[in-house]
Amino acid sequence: MEPEKYTIALAGNPNAGKTSLFNALTGARQHVGNYPGVTVERKEGVAFYQDIPIRVVDLPGTYSLTAYSMEELVARNFIVGQRPDVVIDVVDASNLERNLYLAVQLLELGVPVVIALNMMDVAEQRGTRIDVAKLARLLGVPVVPTVARTGQGIDELLEQAQKVAERQEPWRPLVISYGPDVDAGLEELTRLLEGGVPRQGLVDARWLALKCLEGDQEVMDLLADYPELRQKLEPVLKRVYAHINSTLDDDPEGVIADYRYGYITGIVRRAVETKREMRLNFSDKIDMVLTHRLLGPVFLLLVVYAIYQFVFSASEVPVGWLEGFFAWLSSTVEGLLPEGPVRSLLVSGVIDGVGGVLGFVPLIMFMFLAIAVLEDSGYMARMAYLMDRVLRIFGLHGNSVISLMVGGGISGGCAVPAIMAARTLKDPKARLATIMAVPFMNCGAKLPVYGVLIAAFFAGQHAAMLFGLTIISWVLALLAARLLRSTLLAGEQSPFVMELPPYRTPTLKGLAIHTWERTWRYIKKAGTLILGISIVMWALMSYPGLPEQEVARWQARLAAAGPAEAQQLQMDMAQARLAGTAAGRLGRALSVVTAPLGFDWRTNVALVGGFAAKEVIVSTLATAHSLGIDDPEDSQGLAERLAADPGWGPLKAFALMIFVMVYAPCFPTVVMTRKETGSWKWALFSVVYNTAIAYGLSLAVYQGGRALGLG
Ligand code: GDP
Ligand code: MG
Repeated sequence: MEPEKYTIALAGNPNAGKTSLFNALTGARQHVGNYPGVTVERKEGVAFYQDIPIRVVDLPGTYSLTAYSMEELVARNFIVGQRPDVVIDVVDASNLERNLYLAVQLLELGVPVVIALNMMDVAEQRGTRIDVAKLARLLGVPVVPTVARTGQGIDELLEQAQKVAERQEPWRPLVISYGPDVDAGLEELTRLLEGGVPRQGLVDARWLALKCLEGDQEVMDLLADYPELRQKLEPVLKRVYAHINSTLDDDPEGVIADYRYGYITGIVRRAVETKREMRLNFSDKIDMVLTHRLLGPVFLLLVVYAIYQFVFSASEVPVGWLEGFFAWLSSTVEGLLPEGPVRSLLVSGVIDGVGGVLGFVPLIMFMFLAIAVLEDSGYMARMAYLMDRVLRIFGLHGNSVISLMVGGGISGGCAVPAIMAARTLKDPKARLATIMAVPFMNCGAKLPVYGVLIAAFFAGQHAAMLFGLTIISWVLALLAARLLRSTLLAGEQSPFVMELPPYRTPTLKGLAIHTWERTWRYIKKAGTLILGISIVMWALMSYPGLPEQEVARWQARLAAAGPAEAQQLQMDMAQARLAGTAAGRLGRALSVVTAPLGFDWRTNVALVGGFAAKEVIVSTLATAHSLGIDDPEDSQGLAERLAADPGWGPLKAFALMIFVMVYAPCFPTVVMTRKETGSWKWALFSVVYNTAIAYGLSLAVYQGGRALGLG
């Protein structure tokens, strides 16, 4: 017999119809043997597609590709070791959800797959309607409906398999998210494995890392041959394992399986319509309400609003304590040290600057706690699922939602990991649009800015204001993305699966760890980066000082003044000194541009500093407003000082909040954009695009407000 051109392997759950399909494909041309060394039956035969002989191997029936049973191991080793040109996964259409578990594992492995959607007759009888084209689009592989018993669909199946085999495409593993904890660990392990060989050119590093996390004995045994790598891997694996265990109260294997099912649920919800009632599990029942077309979005908005209420009411008192503490600290230091640059640096630069940022730790912490509850319970995935429908209208989809959420979709995120999360978007244009949309979100660093301005000018309306700002940021992000998608980034949309992992009850320990991890990052940033920039900003706002004869003139006037005028004179002197410093000159130079927005020179300086990190806006404003005051008795916080300043008002504050929300992403975000897009072009574009939009909006808000008599 002539040699076969291609090899097809048949995989599938037991009783999905593999043998029936095998017989229909090969007829009598088959022989039976054993896999070497084991008593698992091996059937092989030859099929013909237009005179092309094709070798067909019937793999043992399995539910999974773990290494638990002999059958699973044999099936997996055949695929990995023999690398068939295509695997036909025989899926029982009447039991789709369960059968897709193996399909997803095959896709994760990366082998080219064609799905035989078998038992279509049974599925139809049961009233299950499957949108085959949609299923194929979502899975990203050909899907052919078959009835193996009657031979229906066999020709089409063989044709599709032959086509895929012919293409000889390299394996392309499906990347799905297993949640933030597993994903982070997975990435770390993948990096180690990429450096360290044992892929043997057969499977990719992420898959190996996944198997390590799943505790796959076979893969661990393989690694035993690489002692050096194993030595590096083991402590990381242990740490990741322990972290997942303590935060999610489950081993990685269980979490990974949950997310795999979440992926399948996301597919089935979209592609399958079941007429008669099917058995619903706990998560399905909750989802009847929470992902309902009408009730879902209403509930989502209520949840977000409730979170803001909770965050502000819970943090109000502790934020007050911290503000009081820093005010006490600065007046104490002020009383202890003689007047001079050291005192000024410590009080105005360090304590008022960094304190202004640290004062918001309770607010940030409660926000992170709320986000941890959403993530750990599985509701965050539902929010993304609901938003996905809206996002498609704006040319974004799928993981865009995840990115926007991570970037601060409900306030309190960070654009840097959000831009990295966009990696899972396969469509390059949608990915770019997502990266450009992320900086509009209200990241954790913008929160203190809002916090100060809301406290100063919108007291008592904390939750409503933040809710409004959230809505505005989403609307702007989506419009900005839509604009790009219909101009620079015009193109088709590709389908994307929204994962719906089962609901879990968050554990207290898990919530505590997740909240603390992020809060600590904020505190650390305040103590390092923000501290450093605060000192620089203080220096820029202190030097060069006034010329000596100038100082002498002021002092003479002060000496001559009565006690009533003295205070005013002191403030005027401080103003004159500030105005002459490097920052003062820069800020005033910028006033030409920002005056129509209502920003004074201090705000300009703060915004320039905010390019390094948005928290710097608060610390710089705090320093600038504390430098103007030379009174140890004065222990007001920044919000009180702004509220008392006649140059400020609600309209100005609102225009500034909009500007801060939208203008140039911070420097780390720009660097990450450069890294992820591979060019400075997009990084610079985001700076210009966002700043231009911010300028236009703030101008409209401020001038419009004034025209309406609001400011
Ligand atoms: P395997 O365990 O995957 O090899 O499954 P088999 O090929 O042995 O099939 C299991 C049972 O399902 C047998 O009784 C088949 O006749 C039956 N079967 C296979 N395909 C179909 C189909 O498309 N429709 C129906 N109604 N029955 C099928
Ligand atoms: Mg069989």
